[in-house]
Amino acid sequence: MEFESVIGLEVHAQLATESKLFCSCAIEFGQEPNSNTCPVCLGLPGVLPTINEKAVRYAIMLGLATHCTIRTDSQFARKNYFYPDLPKAYQTSQFDRPLCEHGWVDIEVEGEIKRIGITRIHMEEDAGKLVHEGNDPDASYIDLNRAGTPLVEIVSEPDIRTSAEAKAYMEKIHSIVTYLGICNGNMEKGNLRCDANVSIRPVNEKELRTRTETKNLNSFRNIQAAIDYEISRQHDLMLEGEPVIQQTRLWDADSKSSRAMRTKEDSDDYRYFPCPDLPVVSIAPSLIDSLRSELPELPDEKSQRFQDAYLFSKHDATMLVANRNMADYFEAVLEHGIEPKTAANWIMGDVSRLLNEHGTDITECRVTADKLAGLIKQIDTGVISGKIAKTVFEEMFQTGREATAVIQEKGLKQVSDSDALTGICETILTDNPTQVEQFREGKEKVMGFFVGQVMKLTKGKANPQMVNGILRELLKK
Ligand code: ADP
Ligand code: MG
Ligand code: ZN
Repeated sequence: MEFESVIGLEVHAQLATESKLFCSCAIEFGQEPNSNTCPVCLGLPGVLPTINEKAVRYAIMLGLATHCTIRTDSQFARKNYFYPDLPKAYQTSQFDRPLCEHGWVDIEVEGEIKRIGITRIHMEEDAGKLVHEGNDPDASYIDLNRAGTPLVEIVSEPDIRTSAEAKAYMEKIHSIVTYLGICNGNMEKGNLRCDANVSIRPVNEKELRTRTETKNLNSFRNIQAAIDYEISRQHDLMLEGEPVIQQTRLWDADSKSSRAMRTKEDSDDYRYFPCPDLPVVSIAPSLIDSLRSELPELPDEKSQRFQDAYLFSKHDATMLVANRNMADYFEAVLEHGIEPKTAANWIMGDVSRLLNEHGTDITECRVTADKLAGLIKQIDTGVISGKIAKTVFEEMFQTGREATAVIQEKGLKQVSDSDALTGICETILTDNPTQVEQFREGKEKVMGFFVGQVMKLTKGKANPQMVNGILRELLKK
């Protein structure tokens, strides 16, 4: 029997507000434990929460960007459970009246566009953090700085069929929230994280089968690996005639496997009820309209514009727009009159490669857009070859200097002096009579050897087109 996998993702994004969701405590990473707390986020009795307006605006922006309907009568609800990192013994979340519903995003996998439904986007507060490295090795400590941080949870329909689609979906969500500027998208720090629900069923079966939920997925790679692991685990169970048990599993990136954490609760277990301390969040349609009109150009729109304006393939455009800062950098390079395809090749090639190697971001790149444009102009005007340009670029990346300065100082200017090059070519031919003989017998490949020798002698600085022409002339003689 043939099986297909069915996947739905629950993505949590931390909203980039200055203060918490229900109090005015600051949100700052790396502060003294429990310093950013107050009676509200500590869950002390007798205090009342107030809703952070900016967080609501951010969540609406996300809903609009993902084609959701925005509820004008959304409501907060208490999700009751007991865990030491949750001071109130309930999480203020949303249940049957989430802020955003019925949306979608398009993803691209292997050239195919697929639409993934978004069931809902609701707002909720984050919990605190248990700390196990304290003075007493047997004790658990609690840091409530994170408690009350505003989150949105984006729940997808079970429309995803492969781990590659899941990764593409997560990348799309990442790019949308960072384009909107509502979340910094830092997955390592857990500011954007995802739980993956996975089940398998015979192809053509319509009903959903029992699923598991894998938590703790903090990179695109882990999302894909955890889903692949879970699909294969369920396959094995199926083959052995064992049932899949509904459970929450925890991904371990080191061992590349997951283990059962607890049998999964159903929503009944949480005894949700409307939060009596908070009013219905009544959203004026005019607010929705004004937020809609202020949305920035989103990744799909930008990709389409790049395809139309610069004649890029869908694939190239998608790659280039995935990171908003990268796309801005690209357009800044173009402002200096650089040809789009050339700029894109540099950015998706050497620029991305060095940024990855150094684990840094384009916004911190010392080769600013005008400097990259300056380098490309040195190639276009024949001052340096494309090959030397790579060396120059590496130096610029390290030091932040201008291309012209690096070329000058290192003496990397291309040798385009015809007399000088002719002299060098003659030397090479005289020194290699066997190869000259081979060329004359029709072995075209030897040409590469000659050019290579000239390059070696000139430390890569000879103008390759000229060298080719001169060698051919000399060999005719
Ligand atoms: P809960 O809130 O209890 O986690 P939901 O019904 O809200 O459960 O579903 C959570 C996520 O699980 C959604 O993304 C949904 O698409 C996905 N999902 C639900 N049923 C299945 C299933 N049988 N297989 C795979 N994913 C599923
Ligand atoms: Mg859930
Ligand atoms: Zn507080």
